Amino acid sequence: MKHYYPAYYESFHCIAADCPDSCCQGWDVVIDSDTESFYRTVKGDFGDRLRRAIVTDSDGDRVFRLADNKKCPFWGEDKLCDIYKELGEAHLCATCAQFPRLRMEYEDFTEHSLALACPEAARLILNTDNAYSSFTHTDAEGCADYDADVMRLLLESRLRCAELLTADKSLADRLCECLIDAEAVQARLYPSEKSPDTPYRQDALAELFDQLEFIDDRNRNKIVQASHTADFSDQETELTRLALYDLYRYRLNSVDTLDVLSPTKFMIASVIVISNLSRDNHLALCEAAQLYSKEIEQSYENMERIFDALAYDPLLSSDHLIRFIQ
Ligand code: SF4
Repeated sequence: MKHYYPAYYESFHCIAADCPDSCCQGWDVVIDSDTESFYRTVKGDFGDRLRRAIVTDSDGDRVFRLADNKKCPFWGEDKLCDIYKELGEAHLCATCAQFPRLRMEYEDFTEHSLALACPEAARLILNTDNAYSSFTHTDAEGCADYDADVMRLLLESRLRCAELLTADKSLADRLCECLIDAEAVQARLYPSEKSPDTPYRQDALAELFDQLEFIDDRNRNKIVQASHTADFSDQETELTRLALYDLYRYRLNSVDTLDVLSPTKFMIASVIVISNLSRDNHLALCEAAQLYSKEIEQSYENMERIFDALAYDPLLSSDHLIRFIQ
Protein backbone atom coordinates (compact mmCIF):
# COMPACT_ATOMS: atom_id res chain seq x y z
CA MET A 1 0.00 0.00 0.00
CA LYS A 2 1.47 3.35 -1.02
CA HIS A 3 0.80 6.46 1.06
CA TYR A 4 0.87 10.04 -0.25
CA TYR A 5 1.18 13.07 2.04
CA PRO A 6 1.03 16.78 1.13
CA ALA A 7 4.15 18.70 2.15
CA TYR A 8 2.38 20.45 5.06
CA TYR A 9 1.10 17.25 6.69
CA GLU A 10 4.06 16.43 8.92
CA SER A 11 4.33 20.03 10.12
CA PHE A 12 0.91 19.91 11.77
CA HIS A 13 0.71 20.00 15.56
CA CYS A 14 -2.40 20.95 17.49
CA ILE A 15 -1.81 24.34 19.10
CA ALA A 16 -4.42 23.56 21.80
CA ALA A 17 -4.75 26.54 24.19
CA ASP A 18 -3.34 28.90 21.53
CA CYS A 19 -5.99 27.89 18.98
CA PRO A 20 -8.05 30.95 17.93
CA ASP A 21 -11.17 28.86 17.41
CA SER A 22 -11.04 25.18 18.49
CA CYS A 23 -12.64 22.04 17.22
CA CYS A 24 -14.14 21.78 20.74
CA GLN A 25 -16.83 24.33 19.89
CA GLY A 26 -19.73 24.10 17.48
CA TRP A 27 -19.63 20.43 16.49
CA ASP A 28 -21.19 17.28 17.81
CA VAL A 29 -18.43 14.86 18.70
CA VAL A 30 -19.49 11.32 17.77
CA ILE A 31 -18.07 8.76 20.22
CA ASP A 32 -17.03 5.41 18.77
CA SER A 33 -18.27 2.30 20.57
CA ASP A 34 -14.80 1.16 21.76
CA THR A 35 -14.20 4.51 23.44
CA GLU A 36 -17.66 4.57 24.99
CA SER A 37 -17.08 1.05 26.35
CA PHE A 38 -13.88 2.27 27.96
CA TYR A 39 -15.60 5.37 29.38
CA ARG A 40 -18.14 3.04 31.08
CA THR A 41 -15.27 1.52 33.06
CA VAL A 42 -13.74 4.81 34.29
CA LYS A 43 -14.19 5.07 38.05
CA GLY A 44 -14.77 8.04 40.34
CA ASP A 45 -16.20 11.50 39.72
CA PHE A 46 -14.61 11.82 36.31
CA GLY A 47 -16.17 8.53 35.17
CA ASP A 48 -19.59 9.76 36.36
CA ARG A 49 -19.04 13.05 34.52
CA LEU A 50 -18.17 11.20 31.31
CA ARG A 51 -21.24 9.00 31.43
CA ARG A 52 -23.58 11.89 32.25
CA ALA A 53 -22.31 13.83 29.23
CA ILE A 54 -23.01 11.13 26.61
CA VAL A 55 -26.40 11.23 24.86
CA THR A 56 -27.93 9.82 21.67
CA ASP A 57 -28.53 12.42 18.95
CA SER A 58 -31.31 12.53 16.34
CA ASP A 59 -29.20 10.39 13.93
CA GLY A 60 -28.78 7.69 16.58
CA ASP A 61 -25.11 8.57 17.19
CA ARG A 62 -23.64 8.68 20.67
CA VAL A 63 -22.34 12.21 21.24
CA PHE A 64 -21.31 14.55 24.04
CA ARG A 65 -24.15 16.87 25.05
CA LEU A 66 -22.82 20.32 24.20
CA ALA A 67 -22.70 22.94 26.95
CA ASP A 68 -23.45 26.68 26.63
CA ASN A 69 -22.23 28.31 23.41
CA LYS A 70 -22.15 24.84 21.79
CA LYS A 71 -18.92 23.99 23.62
CA CYS A 72 -17.71 20.48 24.28
CA PRO A 73 -18.39 19.88 28.02
CA PHE A 74 -14.79 18.72 28.46
CA TRP A 75 -13.24 21.86 27.01
CA GLY A 76 -11.83 23.51 30.11
CA GLU A 77 -11.46 27.19 30.98
CA ASP A 78 -7.76 26.79 30.22
CA LYS A 79 -8.86 25.84 26.65
CA LEU A 80 -7.44 22.37 27.14
CA CYS A 81 -9.27 19.05 27.00
CA ASP A 82 -10.19 17.56 30.41
CA ILE A 83 -10.31 14.02 28.97
CA TYR A 84 -6.78 14.42 27.63
CA LYS A 85 -5.63 15.72 31.00
CA GLU A 86 -7.40 13.06 33.09
CA LEU A 87 -7.06 9.94 30.92
CA GLY A 88 -4.35 10.74 28.37
CA GLU A 89 -4.33 11.07 24.58
CA ALA A 90 -4.87 7.33 24.09
CA HIS A 91 -8.40 7.66 25.49
CA LEU A 92 -9.70 10.41 23.24
CA CYS A 93 -12.49 9.14 20.97
CA ALA A 94 -11.51 8.49 17.33
CA THR A 95 -13.14 11.77 16.16
CA CYS A 96 -10.97 13.90 18.47
CA ALA A 97 -7.83 11.78 18.07
CA GLN A 98 -7.89 12.07 14.25
CA PHE A 99 -9.09 15.63 13.64
CA PRO A 100 -7.95 17.41 11.49
CA ARG A 101 -6.18 14.54 9.76
CA LEU A 102 -8.02 13.15 6.74
CA ARG A 103 -7.36 9.77 5.18
CA MET A 104 -8.72 8.80 1.74
CA GLU A 105 -8.27 5.08 1.07
CA TYR A 106 -8.38 3.76 -2.50
CA GLU A 107 -7.60 0.04 -2.16
CA ASP A 108 -4.04 0.07 -3.58
CA PHE A 109 -3.04 3.53 -2.31
CA THR A 110 -3.99 5.97 0.44
CA GLU A 111 -3.88 9.76 0.31
CA HIS A 112 -3.68 11.98 3.38
CA SER A 113 -4.70 15.57 3.96
CA LEU A 114 -5.73 17.97 6.70
CA ALA A 115 -9.12 19.61 7.25
CA LEU A 116 -9.19 23.30 6.43
CA ALA A 117 -11.63 23.77 9.33
CA CYS A 118 -8.73 23.67 11.80
CA PRO A 119 -7.02 27.11 12.06
CA GLU A 120 -3.52 25.65 12.29
CA ALA A 121 -4.14 23.33 9.35
CA ALA A 122 -5.58 26.24 7.31
CA ARG A 123 -2.47 28.30 8.06
CA LEU A 124 -0.19 25.50 6.82
CA ILE A 125 -2.31 24.69 3.76
CA LEU A 126 -2.37 28.30 2.55
CA ASN A 127 1.30 28.96 3.26
CA THR A 128 2.94 25.90 1.73
CA ASP A 129 4.19 25.96 -1.85
CA ASN A 130 4.32 22.84 -4.05
CA ALA A 131 2.39 20.91 -1.41
CA TYR A 132 1.36 18.10 -3.77
CA SER A 133 4.58 17.59 -5.70
CA SER A 134 4.75 13.94 -4.60
CA PHE A 135 1.24 13.21 -5.92
CA THR A 136 2.39 12.28 -9.42
CA HIS A 137 0.88 8.78 -9.60
CA THR A 138 -1.40 8.14 -12.54
CA ASP A 139 -1.56 4.35 -12.48
CA ALA A 140 -4.19 2.28 -10.70
CA GLU A 141 -4.65 -1.44 -10.34
CA GLY A 142 -7.99 -3.08 -10.93
CA CYS A 143 -9.83 -3.85 -7.70
CA ALA A 144 -13.26 -4.65 -6.35
CA ASP A 145 -13.94 -1.11 -5.12
CA TYR A 146 -13.57 0.88 -8.32
CA ASP A 147 -12.89 0.73 -12.04
CA ALA A 148 -9.14 1.12 -12.67
CA ASP A 149 -9.75 2.92 -16.01
CA VAL A 150 -11.91 5.51 -14.25
CA MET A 151 -9.28 5.98 -11.53
CA ARG A 152 -6.53 6.44 -14.15
CA LEU A 153 -8.66 9.02 -15.99
CA LEU A 154 -9.19 10.92 -12.72
CA LEU A 155 -5.53 10.79 -11.70
CA GLU A 156 -4.42 12.02 -15.13
CA SER A 157 -7.06 14.77 -15.16
CA ARG A 158 -6.01 15.85 -11.65
CA LEU A 159 -2.42 16.22 -12.72
CA ARG A 160 -3.51 18.18 -15.81
CA CYS A 161 -5.76 20.42 -13.70
CA ALA A 162 -2.89 21.07 -11.25
CA GLU A 163 -0.76 22.19 -14.22
CA LEU A 164 -3.58 24.46 -15.44
CA LEU A 165 -3.92 25.96 -11.96
CA THR A 166 -0.23 26.82 -11.74
CA ALA A 167 0.15 28.26 -15.27
CA ASP A 168 1.25 31.87 -15.73
CA LYS A 169 -2.21 33.39 -16.28
CA SER A 170 -4.81 35.20 -14.22
CA LEU A 171 -6.53 33.02 -11.62
CA ALA A 172 -9.91 33.67 -13.27
CA ASP A 173 -8.56 32.26 -16.57
CA ARG A 174 -6.98 29.27 -14.83
CA LEU A 175 -10.20 28.38 -12.99
CA CYS A 176 -12.18 28.64 -16.23
CA GLU A 177 -9.73 26.32 -17.99
CA CYS A 178 -10.08 23.78 -15.18
CA LEU A 179 -13.85 23.88 -15.55
CA ILE A 180 -13.66 23.43 -19.34
CA ASP A 181 -11.28 20.50 -18.82
CA ALA A 182 -13.65 18.98 -16.23
CA GLU A 183 -16.50 19.24 -18.78
CA ALA A 184 -14.40 17.16 -21.19
CA VAL A 185 -13.55 14.58 -18.50
CA GLN A 186 -17.21 14.41 -17.51
CA ALA A 187 -18.22 13.73 -21.10
CA ARG A 188 -15.85 10.72 -21.14
CA LEU A 189 -16.95 9.42 -17.74
CA TYR A 190 -20.67 9.80 -17.73
CA PRO A 191 -22.13 12.29 -20.18
CA SER A 192 -24.55 14.49 -18.30
CA GLU A 193 -27.57 16.03 -19.98
CA LYS A 194 -27.00 19.54 -21.25
CA SER A 195 -28.70 21.96 -18.86
CA PRO A 196 -31.69 23.75 -20.36
CA ASP A 197 -30.89 27.33 -21.30
CA THR A 198 -31.70 29.50 -18.30
CA PRO A 199 -31.28 33.26 -18.06
CA TYR A 200 -28.07 34.15 -16.20
CA ARG A 201 -28.48 35.31 -12.59
CA GLN A 202 -25.66 36.93 -10.66
CA ASP A 203 -27.19 35.92 -7.31
CA ALA A 204 -27.45 32.16 -8.02
CA LEU A 205 -24.48 31.27 -5.80
CA ALA A 206 -25.63 33.58 -2.99
CA GLU A 207 -29.07 31.98 -3.11
CA LEU A 208 -27.52 28.53 -2.74
CA PHE A 209 -25.45 29.51 0.32
CA ASP A 210 -28.47 31.21 1.88
CA GLN A 211 -30.29 27.84 1.96
CA LEU A 212 -27.65 26.16 4.14
CA GLU A 213 -27.49 25.54 7.87
CA PHE A 214 -24.98 27.48 9.97
CA ILE A 215 -23.44 26.87 13.41
CA ASP A 216 -23.37 30.63 13.95
CA ASP A 217 -26.11 32.37 11.99
CA ARG A 218 -24.06 35.60 11.77
CA ASN A 219 -21.82 33.70 9.36
CA ARG A 220 -24.76 33.19 6.99
CA ASN A 221 -24.82 36.90 6.11
CA LYS A 222 -21.06 37.03 5.72
CA ILE A 223 -20.94 34.02 3.39
CA VAL A 224 -24.00 35.07 1.37
CA GLN A 225 -22.53 38.58 0.97
CA ALA A 226 -19.27 37.02 -0.18
CA SER A 227 -21.02 35.08 -2.97
CA HIS A 228 -22.10 37.97 -5.19
CA THR A 229 -18.95 38.75 -7.18
CA ALA A 230 -15.59 37.22 -8.06
CA ASP A 231 -12.58 39.36 -7.17
CA PHE A 232 -9.24 37.61 -6.76
CA SER A 233 -7.07 40.72 -6.70
CA ASP A 234 -3.99 40.73 -4.44
CA GLN A 235 -4.56 37.18 -3.18
CA GLU A 236 -3.83 34.97 -6.19
CA THR A 237 -0.92 33.01 -4.67
CA GLU A 238 -2.83 31.84 -1.59
CA LEU A 239 -6.05 31.34 -3.54
CA THR A 240 -4.17 29.11 -5.98
CA ARG A 241 -3.02 26.98 -3.02
CA LEU A 242 -6.64 26.83 -1.85
CA ALA A 243 -7.81 25.66 -5.30
CA LEU A 244 -5.09 22.98 -5.34
CA TYR A 245 -6.15 21.85 -1.87
CA ASP A 246 -9.74 21.35 -3.08
CA LEU A 247 -8.54 19.62 -6.24
CA TYR A 248 -6.54 17.07 -4.23
CA ARG A 249 -9.17 16.69 -1.54
CA TYR A 250 -12.16 16.06 -3.81
CA ARG A 251 -11.21 14.97 -7.35
CA LEU A 252 -10.78 11.27 -6.61
CA ASN A 253 -14.16 11.03 -4.83
CA SER A 254 -15.54 11.02 -8.36
CA VAL A 255 -14.43 7.41 -8.72
CA ASP A 256 -17.66 6.55 -6.84
CA THR A 257 -19.97 9.32 -8.00
CA LEU A 258 -18.67 9.64 -11.60
CA ASP A 259 -19.30 13.37 -11.12
CA VAL A 260 -16.21 15.47 -11.84
CA LEU A 261 -18.03 18.70 -12.55
CA SER A 262 -19.56 19.33 -9.11
CA PRO A 263 -16.26 19.10 -7.16
CA THR A 264 -14.64 21.39 -9.74
CA LYS A 265 -17.46 23.91 -9.39
CA PHE A 266 -17.19 23.59 -5.60
CA MET A 267 -13.47 24.41 -5.83
CA ILE A 268 -14.34 27.57 -7.80
CA ALA A 269 -17.21 28.55 -5.48
CA SER A 270 -14.92 28.13 -2.45
CA VAL A 271 -12.23 30.35 -3.99
CA ILE A 272 -14.84 33.03 -4.78
CA VAL A 273 -16.42 33.04 -1.30
CA ILE A 274 -13.22 32.76 0.75
CA SER A 275 -11.55 35.54 -1.22
CA ASN A 276 -14.46 37.95 -0.60
CA LEU A 277 -14.99 36.78 2.98
CA SER A 278 -11.41 37.70 3.76
CA ARG A 279 -11.58 41.12 2.07
CA ASP A 280 -15.05 42.13 3.33
CA ASN A 281 -14.33 41.19 6.95
CA HIS A 282 -10.64 42.14 7.17
CA LEU A 283 -9.67 38.54 7.90
CA ALA A 284 -6.44 36.85 6.88
CA LEU A 285 -7.21 34.44 4.06
CA CYS A 286 -6.51 31.42 6.31
CA GLU A 287 -9.02 32.76 8.88
CA ALA A 288 -11.68 33.19 6.18
CA ALA A 289 -10.93 29.70 4.81
CA GLN A 290 -11.23 28.15 8.27
CA LEU A 291 -14.54 29.90 8.99
CA TYR A 292 -15.96 28.82 5.62
CA SER A 293 -14.75 25.26 6.00
CA LYS A 294 -16.12 24.88 9.52
CA GLU A 295 -19.56 26.13 8.45
CA ILE A 296 -19.73 24.48 5.03
CA GLU A 297 -17.35 21.55 4.52
CA GLN A 298 -17.73 20.01 7.97
CA SER A 299 -21.51 19.75 7.56
CA TYR A 300 -22.58 16.63 5.71
CA GLU A 301 -26.01 18.16 5.02
CA ASN A 302 -24.53 21.37 3.59
CA MET A 303 -22.14 19.51 1.32
CA GLU A 304 -24.90 17.23 0.06
CA ARG A 305 -27.11 20.23 -0.74
CA ILE A 306 -24.28 22.12 -2.47
CA PHE A 307 -23.14 19.18 -4.60
CA ASP A 308 -26.74 18.44 -5.56
CA ALA A 309 -27.29 22.05 -6.70
CA LEU A 310 -23.95 22.18 -8.55
CA ALA A 311 -24.88 18.99 -10.39
CA TYR A 312 -28.46 19.80 -11.34
CA ASP A 313 -29.29 23.52 -11.02
CA PRO A 314 -29.07 25.11 -14.50
CA LEU A 315 -28.42 28.48 -12.83
CA LEU A 316 -25.09 26.99 -11.68
CA SER A 317 -24.07 25.51 -15.03
CA SER A 318 -20.44 25.72 -16.16
CA ASP A 319 -21.33 28.44 -18.69
CA HIS A 320 -22.92 30.57 -15.97
CA LEU A 321 -20.00 30.06 -13.56
CA ILE A 322 -17.52 31.06 -16.27
CA ARG A 323 -19.51 34.20 -16.92
CA PHE A 324 -19.57 34.89 -13.17
CA ILE A 325 -15.80 34.80 -12.74
CA GLN A 326 -14.72 36.55 -15.97
S1 SF4 B 1 -8.95 23.23 15.73
FE1 SF4 B 1 -6.91 22.33 15.26
S2 SF4 B 1 -5.38 23.57 16.41
FE2 SF4 B 1 -7.45 24.05 17.23
S3 SF4 B 1 -7.72 22.68 19.00
FE3 SF4 B 1 -8.60 21.59 17.22
S4 SF4 B 1 -6.94 20.35 16.29
FE4 SF4 B 1 -6.00 21.84 17.73
